[in-house]
Amino acid sequence: MANSDTEVVIIGGGAAGIAAGWRLAKAAVECLLVEARPRLGGRAWTVTDRSGCALDLGCGWLHSADRNPWVKIAKSQGRTIDKTPPPWQKPALPNDFPLAKQQDFTQAQHAFYARMEAAAQGASDLPAAAFLEPGCRWNRLIDAVGSYITGADLERVSARDFDNYADTNVNWRVREGYGAAIAAHGDGLPVVLDCPVLQIDHHARRLKIETAKGAITADQAIVTLPSALIADKEFLFAPALPEKTEAARGLPLGFNDKLFLSLEKPEEFEPDSRLFGHKDRSATATYHLRPFGRPQIEAYFGGSFAAELEAGGERAFFDFALTELKRLLGGDFIRRVKPLPMHRWGADPFARGSYSYALPGKAGCRAKLAAAVDERLFFAGEACSIHDFSTAHGGFHTGVAAAEQVLAVRRKKRV
Ligand SMILES: Cc1cc2nc3c(=O)[nH]c(=O)nc-3n(C[C@H](O)[C@H](O)[C@H](O)COP(=O)(O)OP(=O)(O)OC[C@H]3O[C@@H](n4cnc5c(N)ncnc54)[C@H](O)[C@@H]3O)c2cc1C
Repeated sequence: MANSDTEVVIIGGGAAGIAAGWRLAKAAVECLLVEARPRLGGRAWTVTDRSGCALDLGCGWLHSADRNPWVKIAKSQGRTIDKTPPPWQKPALPNDFPLAKQQDFTQAQHAFYARMEAAAQGASDLPAAAFLEPGCRWNRLIDAVGSYITGADLERVSARDFDNYADTNVNWRVREGYGAAIAAHGDGLPVVLDCPVLQIDHHARRLKIETAKGAITADQAIVTLPSALIADKEFLFAPALPEKTEAARGLPLGFNDKLFLSLEKPEEFEPDSRLFGHKDRSATATYHLRPFGRPQIEAYFGGSFAAELEAGGERAFFDFALTELKRLLGGDFIRRVKPLPMHRWGADPFARGSYSYALPGKAGCRAKLAAAVDERLFFAGEACSIHDFSTAHGGFHTGVAAAEQVLAVRRKKRV
């Protein structure tokens, strides 16, 4: 791609950008999707291990699956929707965590959510940690689970934003990979890969998008970059848009990482079961045993602990998981596991984290980030979603919404 011209440039080829692209294509608006990576999908990314199993290194669960548009898309691609209930909707294995204690923990967790729900929409937007019961023995585990959900420790998370999240509690998976389904949905769109956008110049009547492969002029742009990148890149817009930088800074990306392990002699474990590494600390992982019934373990890490391990490289995740698994299942067990491909999302220059959370007092930043500028710059991406943030279906809906806004302006101006 040397210098080129189009009607609408879509910046970023993840769930949001792809959804926006199809909405514009359906309305016969000329668009070009510009993606920094050599692949589509962004934080939706399926890789295949040596035995041919699809591993979702990013999104894996079709959350709110009964109203999630990716279900229909994945089915239309001939993929298999797996409706096995997720491990967090049933008791964990009782090793080291007897069922009575699990019930005690679940009650404490529900009471925490109930206190937060009752106060979250009140006068002040407090940190979620403010709703932990002082001295409760389960606070650290509640914090650990909170970090799997939000990517951050509860003291950093806005209770109002947490409460705004809407979930139907129906969670399905795509056997061949959620990331693969999202990336394949981009097939047929006009796309330039390996092409980081460097600046969006909106001084003149027409936009000038500076990229690593030349400049693109356009009437309008839909920006779907992760909020952490909008927050960091002061010179992304010329002239600068301090209100966007400010809104994005209220919505950092949390840290979540998955470590897949192959597992020899898996039969002793029930498919899709789970174990908590520790019950008395937030620096712990949760282990999903035999996902899809496969001979694997998926370890999940979140929050400041995931950030700490990222600093130590992939080996730090593996070493930590071995220590916890050895404690839970014995010294011989760890000879049965080997690490599979993983990805450190915080170190990824085109993500800088896993999914967005709002800082205390910053729940309003999602609407501010999503607001259009000057009928020419439109914003999408999971961080722009008020109720479905942090998810791939949230990304999808914001992409369609931004494209609808573009179309409304074009109709008004009869472009
Ligand atoms: C470990 C992990 C687990 C997750 N689990 C789930 C789950 O189970 N269910 C769920 O629904 N969601 C989950 N998510 C979140 C989900 O993956 C994201 O919310 C969703 O994919 C975000 O889509 P998006 O389009 O908003 O952003 P992205 O996918 O990040 O798309 C933005 C695109 O912009 C590109 N880009 C960045 N910089 C530039 C630039 N300068 N120029 C051009 N392009 C650029 C990026 O490469 C990327 O492709 C998970 C994420 C992670 C990391």
